[in-house]
Parts: sequence; C-alpha cells; structure tokens
Amino acid sequence: MPEKISPGMQQYLDIKKDYPDAFLLFRMGDFYELFYEDAVNAAQILELTLTSRNKNSEHPVPMAGVPHHAIQEYIDQLVNLGYKVAVADQIEDPKKAVGIVKRAVTQVITPGTAVDSSNSSENNFLVAIDFEHLYALSYMDLSTGEFKVTSLTTFSDLIGEIASLKAREIVVGYELAEKEQNLLSKQLNLLLSEQLDFDGNLRIDLSELTELENQVASKLLAYVKRTQMRDLSHVQELEHYEIKDFLQMDFATKSSLELTTNKREGKKHGTLYWLLDATKTAMGTRMLRSWIERPLLKANEISKRAEITQVFIDNFFERADLIESLKGVYDLERLASRISFGKAVPVDFLQLAHSLSNVPLIKNILESMQEPVLSELTERLDEVPELIALIEKAIDDTASRTITEGGIIKKAYNEQLDKYREALENGTSWIAKLEADEKIKSGIPTLRIDYNRKDGYYFHITQSQLNSVPEHFYRKATLKNSERFGSKELSEIEEIMLEAKEKSSALEYDLFLEVRNQTEQYISRVQAVAKAVAEIDCLQSFATVAEKGGYIRPVLTENGKQVNIKNGRHAVVEAVMGAQEYVPNDIDLDQDTSIQLITGPNMSGKSTYMRQFALTVIMAQIGSFVPAEVAELPIFDAIFTRIGASDNLISGESTFMVEMSEANHAIQNATSHSLIIFDELGRGTATYDGMALAQAIVEFVHDKIKAKTLFATHYHELTTLEDKLSGLTNVHVATIEQAGDVTFLHKIAKGAADKSYGIHVAKIAGLPQELLERADVILQKLEHQPLPVKSLEKHEEQLSLFEFDETSSEIIDKLKAANVDSMTAREAMNFLWDLKDLL
Ligand code: ADP
Ligand code: MG
Repeated sequence: MPEKISPGMQQYLDIKKDYPDAFLLFRMGDFYELFYEDAVNAAQILELTLTSRNKNSEHPVPMAGVPHHAIQEYIDQLVNLGYKVAVADQIEDPKKAVGIVKRAVTQVITPGTAVDSSNSSENNFLVAIDFEHLYALSYMDLSTGEFKVTSLTTFSDLIGEIASLKAREIVVGYELAEKEQNLLSKQLNLLLSEQLDFDGNLRIDLSELTELENQVASKLLAYVKRTQMRDLSHVQELEHYEIKDFLQMDFATKSSLELTTNKREGKKHGTLYWLLDATKTAMGTRMLRSWIERPLLKANEISKRAEITQVFIDNFFERADLIESLKGVYDLERLASRISFGKAVPVDFLQLAHSLSNVPLIKNILESMQEPVLSELTERLDEVPELIALIEKAIDDTASRTITEGGIIKKAYNEQLDKYREALENGTSWIAKLEADEKIKSGIPTLRIDYNRKDGYYFHITQSQLNSVPEHFYRKATLKNSERFGSKELSEIEEIMLEAKEKSSALEYDLFLEVRNQTEQYISRVQAVAKAVAEIDCLQSFATVAEKGGYIRPVLTENGKQVNIKNGRHAVVEAVMGAQEYVPNDIDLDQDTSIQLITGPNMSGKSTYMRQFALTVIMAQIGSFVPAEVAELPIFDAIFTRIGASDNLISGESTFMVEMSEANHAIQNATSHSLIIFDELGRGTATYDGMALAQAIVEFVHDKIKAKTLFATHYHELTTLEDKLSGLTNVHVATIEQAGDVTFLHKIAKGAADKSYGIHVAKIAGLPQELLERADVILQKLEHQPLPVKSLEKHEEQLSLFEFDETSSEIIDKLKAANVDSMTAREAMNFLWDLKDLL
C-alpha cells in the first residue's frame, strides 16, 4: 500500500527531484533538514544525530538537521569534501502563507563555486571544457571575478591546464569518452558537472574568440548562473590567453620542479612560491602564484618587472613604508565579489573603505621615488573616492556582521532613521523619569523598571513590598520572590519605543541594502585597483626576497644562445639549508653547446644542479632576481623535464613508460630555444637497453633539436660522446676519496667523473661491512671484463688515463695526506682546486 505523503514531504520530493546529485538542505523553522539518503550520509559525514519522521509507520523517513545559524559551517565541510549542496529556503512570509510555505532552492554551492568559505588567499577556479576538433577551456574564480578562455590542441595540454589551475570541479560541455571520464574523475579526482547547452541569453559572442571558445565560456557562465541564482556583476570581462604566450611547462615539469606545491604533501612549503612570497595582500599572494605558473617570454615585459624590483631594492625606506601601507589593504577582490553577490555584511564595507583609504598612501610612496618606470602603476591607483565617501557617510564605525539588528547606519545619514532613534532615546529618559516618579509616589524604595522580551517593560516589585503597590498597576507576571506589574503610562511609552525600534531596524536594513546597491557601480574600479595593488605587492616581494638572499638582476637575451651563470645557487635548497652550507656552481653553455652531460656519484648533487638551472630560468622569466653573482641567459620558450622515478598520478602507467612518454613529449615539442632536463634517463629498464636509448636520445637532441639540455646519467660510457658530438660537453660533480672514504663537494667541474662510488654511498647508508666487501670484489671482477657493446669502444682508452704518471702520483700523495674530516667545505674546495691546478 503506498504511503500517504504529506504536502510538506511532497514539496521536499519535488525539489529534490531537480537536485539528485546534491545534498538538499531544506529550511524548516530554525533548522535546515535533510531527509532519506541525504540524511543518512550527511549524518555520518557531519556527525549529526540521525532521527526519523513517521517513526511508528512502516516506512520511517531518516532525517537529520542543522541549526540555521550554523549552516555555512556545514556547507563548507561538505563542499570541501567535494560534494554539492542545494539550499532550499522559504520564499514567502510564513505569516502570509496559505497552506504550506513556498520553498525553493536559492543557491547551489559546489566545490568550484564556493565563495563563502574563502578566507584563504587561494584562488578557487571553476573550469569548463569543450571539444570540437580542438579543445577549449574557460575558467572563472567566482570569488574574485577572474574569467578567462583559451584553446588547446591536445588532451594532455588540457590536463596540464586543469592541473595547474588546481581545479576541483569541471563543467563538461561535451560527451566525454570513457577514458577521459575516468582520467578526470578518478585519477584527477575532479567533480564533473555537465552543462551541454546554454540558453541564448547567456551567449557570449566576442569577435576575437573562436566559436568554440565563445561556446565554452557561455556554458561556464550558464552553469554558474544555474547554481548561484544571483547577480554576477563582479564577473570580469572574459579575457583570452594562449599558453604559447608564456614559458611552457607541462604539469609533470611544474610538479617535479616544485614550483607551487611540494611533492611530499602537495603544500606550498619548500616551493619556489613559498620562497618568493613576501607579499602582504591576498591579491598579491594570488597574483604571485599565477606569475610563477606562467613565466613571460617577452624581454620588455620581463625587464619592466625586474626594473621595478630594482627600484624597490634601491629605495629601502620607501619600501618599508610601502609594506606597511600594503598591510592595511584587505582582500579587495573578495570584498568586491561579496558585494555583488549580496553577501557583504557591514564590516565588509568598513574594510573596503579602510583598504581604499590606504591607496593614496601607496600612491604617494611610489611618487616619492620619482621613477618613470613606476608611473604606469601609479596611474592605475584609483582610490575610488566616491565609494570611500559613501561608506564613510553611511556605515557606522562600530557596525558588526549582522544586518538585521540595527547599529549599521551612521547618524545624520537619514532623517527618518534619526527620528526613530530620537524616539528611542526619549523613551529611555521617559522611563527613567517614570521610575523616579512612581518610586516617590508609592514609597517603595526598591521599585524599578526592567525589560525582557517576554513581558516587555514592567515594574519590578519584591514580595515584601507587595502591600504598597499602587492601584493603577496591573499584574503582568508572578515570580518566586517578586512580581511584575504594568501601568497604562508604561505601556504607552513601551509601544512608542518598540515601534521605533522595529521600524528603525527595518529602515537600517533597507538603507544598508541601498548602500550595497550603490556600491555595485564601483566594483570594476575596485577590481582594477586591486590588480594594481597586487602587482606592486608582488614586485616589492621580489625586492624583499632578492635583498635577503643576495640575488642579482639577470641579463636576458631574446633569441640568445649563451648561458653564463657564476656562483649560482638553488634558491630553495639554499634557503632551507642555509647560505653557508650551499656550494655555489657555475653553469656555462656557450653558443654552440646544446648538451651538458653530467656524471658523478649518487647523492653528489647532479639533480640539484639541474634543478638549480631550471629554477633560475623561471625566476628570471617572471621578472625576479636570481641567486648568482653573474647570470646571463637566453629567454627560453619551454622547459621539459624527466626527473626521478615519479609515479604517474595521471595515467597509472609504469615508471619506464612514463619516463619514455615524458622523453617523447620533450623530443616532440622542444625547439632550439627550449630547455630540457633529463635526469637519469633509461633507469627503468635493463642496463644496455636503457643505455642504448639514452645515447640515441642524446644524439637525437644534439642533431635535430639543439635545445639546451642538461643530461645527468649514471651511464659513464656516454661520456665518450664528447669526442663524437661537437655540441656536447662533459661535466662531473667533484669528489674526494681518502682511505676508502668519499667526500662529495657538490662542485661541478669540467670533464667526466671517473667512477660512480655506488659502494661508498651504500656504506654511508650503513649497509653491513661484509656485504660491502663482497660488492667490492664483484665490482673488481666486472671492471676487468671487456664491455660487450660496440659503440662504447672508447671505454678502454679512458681507462688508460688512469695509468700513473708523475703528476698523478703527486696528486695521490696529496690526497693520502689530506685530513678530509677536519676540513671545512671551503677548505675542501680549495684543496680540490689545488689538485686541479696540478693536473
Ligand atoms: P644526485 O642527483 O647526484 O644523486 P642530489 O642532487 O640529489 O644528488 O643531491 C643530494 C644531496 O646533496 C641533496 O639533498 C643536498 O642536500 C646535497 N647537495 C646537492 N647539491 C648541493 C650543493 N650545491 N650544496 C650543498 N649541498 C648540496
Ligand atoms: Mg639525482
């Protein structure tokens, strides 16, 4: 027998039908209730008490509720876990309702559209994708209004963009193939929301965009409208970009270089972003991250940033003032979007005015430096004086977050409001006077007038004085030790006061909404000034970090071919280990050298050296200074890496397969202006197999691509390629060996390494002595067997280098005599240089 469904439940079911994929929070009285599956699941996730409706019936309905004032907290929790939440509110006044109060969904909050929980300075990008021959991608941060679009040729470019935007939800505009679906939802753990169409009103039709780009942006907008159901005036003009306009790096490269998230926990700590971030505003922090994600290609754009950085370094005192002023600027972009969203509370306006009033200070400081290079930024600093004036006139300095209980609007802003307030004040003095009068007339010394919500205003009379209560008092309530009385006069005053109070609160609320509406016309100006402030903040951050780390301004040449870095350091490793500990290195690649082959023991510093170079390039191309004494660099168009044995999150391929596809990606896409970093290529397969591939790749890069390439390898045999390939040079990481102990100097030197010291590393790692000795014996044997590979005939020649001559004996004697343990790193280095001189 079908259960009889109450009208309320019917309403719930009707609404829920449209939101099957969201938790539906259904407003009932002071609670938002969840039913059925939603209730069961939410109870578990949010630790709510699960109850039920129709307990005694055959089909009880599971139910769980959250108090309405705490709803945001619960929504945040659900959304942070990747769920969608639909909020159904009462949309008519319950007092006026006939039958069931009308309810409707007023907002859907999804991981990609959450704006309320956003106290952090991080972006929350919602990405939309579409496909027709090409891919198109559009993204928006609803909390800042940023809105962009681009086209991409390959699915892997698409994935790269999605990953670097750190999107959590994507709006899918076409039928995904099963493989794509899996990759996006399972491996990238994205929430996929469909939006196959959009209604004509939301058509974006910009002439500079392709049909598909207009379409994907329209679909994104349609999805946002569909879920948010409110004004979106803060959404900025759609902007087109091309990944080709920036230094290209795929997702694997960005993640292995730890640009914005570290490998270990996916957090900011220990990344380039972390190192460079001395920003003081939320806008600056966000902009810095996007700069690091997208280094520039044009020399003039780069040099403009670097020049301003230099100005900020030179003007130390002004910069200190600048930093102070920046600290007073709140998150203007978020404030602007809260206003347009209708979510702004009085405090937001105070913060907005306060922030804007810091803008003239910033402007003054920049002007005082008198540098032409600052003039463009200075001109963009518009403090929006009309808006400051409006807020200062309207909003009370002590206003809080609540918008319904008054205390928002300043005195003298609205005449009617002032009248109500006067009435309230008068009422207060009338009451004081009435209390004094009745005290004298009745002769009750303890008589007083009190107020509470239930009884309103009343005379408070204690038990012992009840005999003296005057006749014109009437009883309102009886308590244990006292009674409460009213009088005609008191109730008249009360009426005036309550009316004034109610009306003034309502009026304040209306006035507040009016201010909010008036503010909307200034939103795009606020967003523009936010951008200028963000840029200034990023550049002062560059200056601050450069000064602290002793960085220099790099010299960049468009279409250049030469790399000359003297005493360069890995910025992040240096910051973590301390500048004294880090051994600086030169990186020298002349015009014609494309490949540097790096050999040296494990743990000696090959990977660090190569990453040092990549980071230096990226720092230089975002306009930052770099950690070196001299840095002359070409402008690179792309960085490709194949670093370490990273398991591929994206496709679950085997390590060797990943290795080869990353190598392939580099080879297929690199140009002679690219930088390639190959770290231990070929490790994932059998020795000769790997070595053969490594050599073939080196030759291919050398002959066909001519990209600047750092190639670290444990295949010593490859070092003989130096004789064959004119654009290849060998370098190695220097080591000192003494009485069976090895010291790594982390110093890059010319030429190939003599051996790999694997057994020494094993010793440092603490493997048993017996095992190490056995390994030594095996090694001796192996080393005296001829190598079976033809292409490596050079090997024997190389070995002959080790026959002792006079110099060699002298060097060996010196080495034997040296007490490596007692040397500082610097002494060890000097020692090594001495030995080199001898050679
Ligand atoms: P490899 O790739 O040769 O095995 P790594 O580059 O991984 O070696 O370096 C191993 C360790 O040596 C690093 O973790 C770091 O602590 C240290 N190291 C590397 N280069 C330097 C350097 N230039 N100065 C000081 N320490 C370094
Ligand atoms: Mg390494």
